[in-house]
Amino acid sequence: MGTDKPSMSEHQGALTRSASSPDNEPTIEFKYRRELWLNHGHEWLYGDDGEMQCSSCMKYGVWDYKRDDLEKIEKAVMLARMERAAKQLADLGKEP
Ligand SMILES: [Zn+2]
Repeated sequence: MGTDKPSMSEHQGALTRSASSPDNEPTIEFKYRRELWLNHGHEWLYGDDGEMQCSSCMKYGVWDYKRDDLEKIEKAVMLARMERAAKQLADLGKEP
């Protein structure tokens, strides 16, 4: 039996195709880095000129999602998401 997967809505607007990007298709790693950058929970992202930077991640030792070590980026993303989840939990516990 096939299961119907809901179609994932694509992110739009955050990134526009850079005129300076090479003709090649973006690599899987690049797509993965971009996905992490877009969805790690911070809001003030810098993405001009095809850059993928987040100053909020500096406290995790990472800010350049395009060039920093992928393992470090994955750790930073995990920490950012946990921090965000913890905040949401704390907000839930607060009396209105
Ligand atoms: Zn960040």
